[in-house]
Parts: sequence; C-alpha cells; structure tokens
Amino acid sequence: MRQVYLDYSATTPVKKEVLDAMLPYFSELYGNPSSLYSIAAESKDAIAAARKQVADLIGAGEKEITFTSCGTEADNWAVMGAADALKNKGNHIITTKIEHHALLHTCEFLEKHGYDVTYLDVDKEGRVAPAALEAAITDKTILISIMFINNEVGTIEPVKELAQIAKKHNILFHTDAVQALGNIAIDVKELGIDMMSMSAHKIYGPKGIGALYIRKGVRISNYLHGGAQENKKRAGTENLAGIVGFGKAAELAGNNLQAHIKHTSALRDRLIEKVQAEIDHVYINGSMKHRHPGNANLTFEFIEGEAMLLYLDMNGIAVSTGSACSSASLTPSHVLSAMDIPVERIHGTLRFTVGDMTTEEDIDYVVSTLKNVVNKLREISSVSSKKGW
Ligand SMILES: *Cc1c(COP(=O)(O)O)cnc(C)c1O
Repeated sequence: MRQVYLDYSATTPVKKEVLDAMLPYFSELYGNPSSLYSIAAESKDAIAAARKQVADLIGAGEKEITFTSCGTEADNWAVMGAADALKNKGNHIITTKIEHHALLHTCEFLEKHGYDVTYLDVDKEGRVAPAALEAAITDKTILISIMFINNEVGTIEPVKELAQIAKKHNILFHTDAVQALGNIAIDVKELGIDMMSMSAHKIYGPKGIGALYIRKGVRISNYLHGGAQENKKRAGTENLAGIVGFGKAAELAGNNLQAHIKHTSALRDRLIEKVQAEIDHVYINGSMKHRHPGNANLTFEFIEGEAMLLYLDMNGIAVSTGSACSSASLTPSHVLSAMDIPVERIHGTLRFTVGDMTTEEDIDYVVSTLKNVVNKLREISSVSSKKGW
C-alpha cells in the first residue's frame, strides 16, 4: 500500500546529509566538549560550526544562539527567564489565544505565581491585530510573546509590526518561530526580534534539539542550572550529535529555501484546488495571503475529523486533526475556537502539511482517497441522523 506522510508540521524525517553529518558524533567523536584534551576540542569545534549554521539561517550572531533540548524548552526558557529577570519591573505578559501549548501552559503556570497574562484575540484568519497589542500594553508589561506562524492553520503573524510596537514601549519581544524556520525567510535584525524559539525536527533535523535566539544585550534568567555550558546560559552536557544535525539541517534549509517554498506551496495549492473541485462543503481555515507554504487546514462539513483520520490511516495516509499535541484529546482545537469557527466545523477539520519529500502523485492519491472517505462517512452520518444536507 502507498504510504503518504502529510504531517510535516508535526515532525519531518531526518535528511540523509543530516544523518551522515551526525553519525561520527555518536561513535568516534564522542568527546565531552567541556573537557580539555584534543578529542574534546573536536566536539567543541563541531558545536561552534553548528552554532554559526543556525545563526546564519536567521541573520543572527553566533553568540546570540543557545542550544536547548527542543522548541518547548526554548519557549519555556524565554517566558520564564524574562518573567524572572524583569520581576521588579512588572508582572504583565501579553501573548495570544493561538499559541502552541509550550507557550500557553508556561503562561498559565506563571499566572499561578503572581503574573498577569493577557491572551490576545485573533481575527477569523488567525491574525493578531497590532492595534490590539498596543491597547493591551500597561506600565507593568514586561514581555510580549507572539508566534511567527501558527502550527495548526499556518497563518503568518505580522511579526515585524508587532515587534516594532514592543520596541516603541521598551518591552521584550519573543516569537515562537518553530513553524517559520526553514519555511519563510527570517532576518531577526530586520524584524526587530529580541528572542526566538526554534526546533530542529521541524526542518529535517533530529528530534530533541532546539535553540533560543537571544539578541545581544538582552538579559534573561537561566532556566537550567548546573555547569558552564553554552556560555553559562544553559547547563547540561551538550547534545553533540543533535547540535551537529541541527546545524546541517539549518544550512540545508538556508540553501534550499526558495526551492522548498516553491515545491511545497505548489503541492499545497494542488491539494486545495483538487479537494475543492472534487468534494463539496469544504472550507479552508486560515489566511490564504499570509500562509505557511506547506499548510492546508481544511474543514469537511458534516463529518468527524477523527473518523476521517483513522480511515485515511488505514489507507496509508498520515494527517492530523488540529494540532499533533492535542490529537489524543477530543477537546476542540483552541486555535480554531479562537478563530470563531463553530464547534461542529472544528470537529470536521484536518491539517495536511506537505514537505520536501511530498510528490504530485502523493497529493492525487490523497485527494482520491479523501473523496471516498468523505462520501462514505457522509452517507453513514446522513443515515444515522436521518437528515440530509
Ligand atoms: C513543534 C512546535 C513546538 C515544540 O517544539 P519541540 O521541539 O517539539 O518541543 C513549539 N512551537 C510550535 C509552533 C511547534 O510547531
């Protein structure tokens, strides 16, 4: 049976070049970068090279990149580190209702510890209004954290304008760019970003390695305490092979960016156009203008996304309902809810995300399978509810 993976926003396969770059660091080149003999120096050099590769992808300086264990840790660190470092200045944080749980649950934790958090609304396309951000700022606001690209609907936020507002009010601006990295050109200096979270496994690198960009001059408290690794900013013996893999993946992402955007957006558009031509009662969620190049978030009216997902899985197709992180729960997606999409429609929503390995044949197979699935499930639901549409 054909296997089609359309869940690149959940994770990506590791590219061969990335794996090849990593392999020696599991075996011959195992030195602890903090040790003082030559095998350790090789590890240290490898980390420095990877740091430059990641920095180059986003227009940062090498010293502004600190490796973490994942995107989640980078989000936790940015928010908790800023909250602690600036607690004498204020206790107010502004974020949005559509953030990844790594950000939302960190904010909820801080609320239990005396911080006030404003969760900004978004419009029907999932965009934050810069004016709404400005209106929410108080003299206690110490941090603004707004994601770059939403992981469920693929909406790109007006990060530059939002960062400018933060700067005007002298407030730190953090963005979770896990979905943006490698899918859109990012220049942190041009955008005016103070802190930015990244993760390797969303850009064809390994799982378990991420990074936080911290602009030179920004001081936040440490999150992990221990040794002097990562310029004393993040303790713990480095994930050497992971860091090397992240560096290689970042280099490839930079070199392939335009080709990647062209390839994925063409396949994404093919999927959307074919689905709309062949299946009735389908809605696209998110912005068509400001959109992740590989994201198609579609609502199929009158059916359950979970039923579709299982049926597609039986046909070798991997997609997700809402976000991967909440796919085990049946609570409607907080992102689609914030976009004012009715609950019945949320339940009929699937996220398809294409990537570098996706082909036109994959898309055509998915559309023809979807058509059968949708017809079958709509028949069942019309029989069981005894009402047509
Ligand atoms: C995947 C993802 C994360 C979490 O990154 P991990 O490296 O898996 O911890 C955070 N934010 C967004 C937007 C993501 O898509």
